[in-house]
Amino acid sequence: MSRALASSKVLLDDAVCPATVIFSIESGKILSIVKEVLQDDHPILKDYDVSPEDFKDVSPLVIMPGLVDAHVHLNEPGRTEWEGFATGTRAAAAGGVTTVIDMPLNAIPPTTTVANFNLKINAARGQTWVDVGFWGGMVPTNLDDLVPLIRMGVRGFKGFLIESGVDEFPAITPNYIVKAMKRVRGEATMLMFHAEMQPHTKHQPPVLAVADGERTPRLVANESHECFVRDTGSVEIEEDGPNGYVQNGHANGQANGHIHQNGGAKYDDCENGEVEELSDDDDDDDDDELVVETPVALTEAVEELDLGRSASFVPKPVANLLHKHSNQAEFDEYKLEDENGADISNEERIALAKSPYLQGSEPQFGPYARMANPNHEETVAHKPSTPLAKPNEITDEKLKDNFEDPFVLAQKEDEALANVDPSLYSSFLASRPDNFETTAIAEIINCSLKYPDVPLHIVHLATHEAIPLMRAAKARGLPITAETCFHYLSLTAEKISACSTHFKCCPPIRSDANRQLLWRALRNDIITTVVSDHSPCTPELKGLEKGDFFSAWGGISSVGLGLPILYTEGQRLNPPISLQEITKWCSWNTAKQVGLSHVKGKLAVGFDADIILFDPETSYIVQNDQLFFKNKLTAYDGMEFQGRVVETLVRGVSVFSIKRGHSKEALGKLLLEPRVREISV
Ligand SMILES: [Zn+2]
Repeated sequence: MSRALASSKVLLDDAVCPATVIFSIESGKILSIVKEVLQDDHPILKDYDVSPEDFKDVSPLVIMPGLVDAHVHLNEPGRTEWEGFATGTRAAAAGGVTTVIDMPLNAIPPTTTVANFNLKINAARGQTWVDVGFWGGMVPTNLDDLVPLIRMGVRGFKGFLIESGVDEFPAITPNYIVKAMKRVRGEATMLMFHAEMQPHTKHQPPVLAVADGERTPRLVANESHECFVRDTGSVEIEEDGPNGYVQNGHANGQANGHIHQNGGAKYDDCENGEVEELSDDDDDDDDDELVVETPVALTEAVEELDLGRSASFVPKPVANLLHKHSNQAEFDEYKLEDENGADISNEERIALAKSPYLQGSEPQFGPYARMANPNHEETVAHKPSTPLAKPNEITDEKLKDNFEDPFVLAQKEDEALANVDPSLYSSFLASRPDNFETTAIAEIINCSLKYPDVPLHIVHLATHEAIPLMRAAKARGLPITAETCFHYLSLTAEKISACSTHFKCCPPIRSDANRQLLWRALRNDIITTVVSDHSPCTPELKGLEKGDFFSAWGGISSVGLGLPILYTEGQRLNPPISLQEITKWCSWNTAKQVGLSHVKGKLAVGFDADIILFDPETSYIVQNDQLFFKNKLTAYDGMEFQGRVVETLVRGVSVFSIKRGHSKEALGKLLLEPRVREISV
């Protein structure tokens, strides 16, 4: 049996035009697209076995391809009380998302071995209202599992460069990344990173400092703050800008980064500041390819990178990367006042940013960390591996006192935090400055220079300061892409009130000016995809009553809300957003990212009939109790959205409509075909 949907507005490639889409229920594929609104007795419909009752003209609703949300945490099995395949995919279906790709962490076990992946697949079967694919995970112990997981059909892998907050998914190091890249070279896959990292004591130059009485982070030669002092090289400062901004920052830091003058055969593992020498013992199939280039070679390798500059950014190998002839106008665009947290002193900012107790992307200490980690008591001696945590500074003894909130622990260590209020969003934001992201992204670019044929991806990019880096990587032809999230494009730090811990996520939601620059980067194709990072937990873990941003569990729930979020927010852009743009970022580019661009992401003959009917004229108010998530709590509660998905079809079959609700059966399928090699987006 075949069906056909027609409308005066059908989104085909780059245009919205009248068309009729004919598709098969049997194969779930689009059979033909006719660029006019046919009548129900048109001969071509007969040719495709579409009876008049299986034809519908839905004008003026827009017929669009379904969204492919490449970043969703469904948490099943193991933390199914947070979300689940059934509830998460029903929420997706209700918002026009026809494919989700599940993240490897927060379920127990994580998707880091074939055995674990089998458990995940069995948990998902028969429970998905939309099609579901899977990311695998990179953890320090699973190098040998990467290729088998690729064969099993993971779309790629995600790893954290900072602690994830869940015990079973520890952070990886740049050392691991290089090894992983070597293992997966030549495979059709992608490595992705939660890109936040504290600037490294040894390897990073000063990246953030704020003079008394000022609010703008500056690049300074930092002698006063021990944790931001680098041990070699020097930083020149020119302060010739109209507003006293740092206009230029050069460092002659050839001896920085992962470079060791005497030999060049070492690669830092970023753990406790110790340097690990890579040898054949580390990786039995390693050869001298893993040896990092000599300083001169690496400097030459990165010289071509035009990284631009920003107010608080110096990557490694440090200012070698900073181009002397950077366009001034571009620099001006990227230097911003930090409008949030005016009441936080310079000293407090630095104390917040460097405290090892506050750095996990989810809390590692305190009652909610225990609650989120069922086996936490046994693993209480787990130490934060943040580079600024000095050896012996955090003792097992102290960690046994793990009932204390992370902020209380941090305060005990550093009197500069005595007057900081953990219930203010500005305190939380100051604890995760932009340079956490730029430092990590610089590391990833360095890894990419090593094996420039392995596709890499930055998940949930949140700072505009990373845009010059991404632009430079792109110009260099490195296969590194980046996504941002609906919340970074629609929510702003200035509007997050005290104790509103349901707005917490990592990286954090930043200033409104930052948000606007992310939109620009998206429109300039520097950021290529937009995803939800739907990452729910139980309401208790949000700690709303307590209102302490540092102890609360983070994550914003929004799978299925993305289309109206972008459409609503995008109306304020100049020119206003188009549905073509949304489809490019959320359907086509995400389909390419996840290796499904041969079947998903656009309306075309031979593609899956993943179709949504969208009404741009309707507005509605988001209400927690009407959400389909397992835990009905979102940061968007009470906001008015413009545009609404009226019906969602997955492979030709209706899985949700406003009138009838969800289909009785879970008709989604699991996407386990190994990906084919894709052109990067
Ligand atoms: Zn995530």
